[in-house]
This record gives sequence, structure tokens and C-alpha cells, in this order.
Amino acid sequence: AALPERERRMVERRQALLGPSYRLFYDNPLHVVRAEGVWLYDADGEAHLDVYNNVPSVGHCHPRVVEAIARQAAILNTHTRYLDDTILDYSERLLATFPDEIERVMYTCTGSEAVDLALRIARHYTGGTGIIITENAYHGVTTAAVEISPSLGSGVPLGPYVITVPAPDAYRAQGRDVADALAENVSKAIAFMRRHGIRPAAFIAESIFSTDGILPDPAGFLQKTLAVVHEAGALYIADEVQPGFGRTGSHMWGFMRHGIVPDIAVMGKPMGNGMPIAAAVMKAEIQDRFGKDVRYFNTFGANHVSIAAASAVLDVIRDEKLMENAAATGEYMLTGMRTLQGRFACIGDVRGAGLFLGLEFIKDRESRAPDGALALAVVNGLRDRRVLISAAGIHGNVLKIRPPLPFSRKHADIFLETLESVLTDIV
Ligand code: PMP
Repeated sequence: AALPERERRMVERRQALLGPSYRLFYDNPLHVVRAEGVWLYDADGEAHLDVYNNVPSVGHCHPRVVEAIARQAAILNTHTRYLDDTILDYSERLLATFPDEIERVMYTCTGSEAVDLALRIARHYTGGTGIIITENAYHGVTTAAVEISPSLGSGVPLGPYVITVPAPDAYRAQGRDVADALAENVSKAIAFMRRHGIRPAAFIAESIFSTDGILPDPAGFLQKTLAVVHEAGALYIADEVQPGFGRTGSHMWGFMRHGIVPDIAVMGKPMGNGMPIAAAVMKAEIQDRFGKDVRYFNTFGANHVSIAAASAVLDVIRDEKLMENAAATGEYMLTGMRTLQGRFACIGDVRGAGLFLGLEFIKDRESRAPDGALALAVVNGLRDRRVLISAAGIHGNVLKIRPPLPFSRKHADIFLETLESVLTDIV
């Protein structure tokens, strides 16, 4: 159906002003004007259920975060070159959520910058250049980050020192142990680098492999890979930009589900519930060596207002028991999705941890051939019924279910019922 006149003109203006790099969600793009909790409201005042946005992780426009931002903006908003308690207090709180070995934090404004900084630190520490990533990884938009972001497609070349390994996909493992397979592939990548005279600097992976199709299971599978990485003298960088801040339900950080301690972890998106704040945390020894040689100042990184927002986010996660909610609602969603899987042969697999869930569409159960076209049709079908979601994975065939953390059973029921009705219509 043709877009309404107002939205059609907005699309034209976007194209004229922002150009074709900027992509919209949905065949029928959504014109949003305000949001609250797990709801986005369009220009006609209609509510849309947000089953996708992880940045407003404690809920859109959470009043405690809004209040913290406004209060701090009226008192002081400057940078990290003065003595000041707010950044120190927050840093202590943040680092307390990590294993003891992680003792330092460095602040940026975006996840991409945090990834970029982590790469610099790893290369400085190891004296190496080689980076190992998964096949469809995404780690950001800086020049260094796009070199390790194959999900951007063939128009964006990988860096010359970058090697990809297949993602740890339990559904397509054909009986192989995912932990063994990943460790072996990383080991081969390291051997390949060495043969070409490249010293490995780091393995970087998102702790839930979201752009690779949301691959959480079995918990623990990263342990063998961590050992291989360390044995090669390289660092393990955990990209927590998506799974971090309690989303996986059982733990504050995605890597904790796997029982590992990375050398560096990067975080962003939900950190300030929409304020631009991100960070890299790491072992003290690693940061010491970098810090001795390299001066670091990030003008807006950890400004007072962003820190105030980030601090309020930690308060809300604790006070509203959002991790517990993520675990409970996530389980409820998984059960509901499994029921649908029993009814619809096109659903090959459902999986997830907390409120980070994937539902994989296939052409048939024998071949398990991915059905990206169906996933896209379902995403658009849901949007037309005012449920907002997207798809991920190398074939775009996995529904990416990643709502704000206050998502309740009531919201889960709306999602499941709407998904059922879309599938009933389409397949
Ligand atoms: N790493 C991961 C896993 C991400 O999902 C993203 C953002 N989509 C980034 C890094 C980059 O973060 P930002 O967009 O804040 O630069």
C-alpha cells in the first residue's frame, strides 16, 4: 500500500537531506512522536509495542532517568579533566558488577568508539595486529570497527589482519560440540595468521552473537575459546553492547553466562538509556601499560549528564528487579514460542537468554534451509499490527526479540498472539 502523503514527503526529505546510507525499518516506515515504557506512539496517537529496542533498556523515557538528566544538566555538565566524585562513584558501582579481575574503566560516547579503543589497547598490549571475529559480526562504525564488521556486507572490506570464523550455531552444528568447533576454528585462524607473519592481538565476540543469529547455547561454550586465545598470547574482548546490563536475565554481563573472564569488555547502547555513553572495562595491568604510553581524553565521554543517566539506569535495574523480570518474561516467551514452533513447521528453532530471544524461520525441517523472505514478511506483518521487531542472522531469517526490560507477561502475550495471527495469515 502507498504511504500516506505526510510520510511519503518525510521519506523524500530524508533521502534528500541524509542520503541513501540511512535506512528505515519496515516497508511501511513508522513515524514516531513519543514513547513511554515499552510503547512507541505514532503521529496519529496509536500505540506500538516495542519488542526490539534495547537502548531504552529500562523503558522509554523512564521518569527516574529523565529526572536525573534534567537535574544534572541544571547543575554541571563538563568533562573528565577536573576532580569530581560523580564519575568516581559511578565507576565504582559499574566495576562492582564485573568479576574482580576487571578493575579499570575508560569512557566513550558510543559503542564503536569503545570497540575502537579496545582494539588499540589489545594491539598495544600484545604487539600484534591480527583480530579474529565471527562470520556475521557487527562491532561499529569507526574505520577500525567496520574492518571487523562483516555484517555490513561486501561493500565494506574487512581489515587485512582480520579473519572470520563460523559462528557457534548449535542449531546447525550437525551433532558437533559448539564449544569444540569454535575453539578449533579460532585455533586454525591463529595458525593461519602466524603462517602469514601476523601476530594475533585479539578475539572479539559479542557474548550473545546477535548479528550472527542470536546464539546463546549451550552456556559455557566460550571457555575453550578463551583458553585458545590466551595460549596464543592474544586478548579476549567481550562485546557487551547488546547483551550487557542484565538483558540475558541470569547475569549482568553476557560473558558471565559462559563462566569466563575476558581481558576487556565493551558496553554501550543501554548504558544511559539513550544518552550517549559507552565504555571499555579491563584488567588493570592491561590498562596500565596502555595508559603509561598513551594520553586519553574524550571530550564528551563521561560528561556529567551522561553519567547521571547511567547511574539512574543502574538504580532502576536494581530497584525494579529488571534482571529478574528479564529472566522470568524470557522463559515465558520461550515457552510460548515453543508452542508456536509445534504448530508452524516454518519455525525451525527458538532460543534465547532472558529478554534476548531468537526465532529461526526455515523452508522445511529436513533441509533447515533458512527462510529470510518469510522472516521479512513476518517483521512487516507484525509492524502492520503495531508490534515492532526486526530480523538478524547471516540470512536474515531469525526474528530478533529484544524488548525494553520492563516487558511483562501481558506484553509477551500480545507479542505471541500477534505473531500467531501473522503466521496464520502468511503460511
Ligand atoms: N557492538 C555491537 C555488538 C553493536 O550492536 C553495536 C551497535 N549496533 C556497536 C558495537 C556499536 O555501537 P554504536 O552504534 O553505539 O557505535
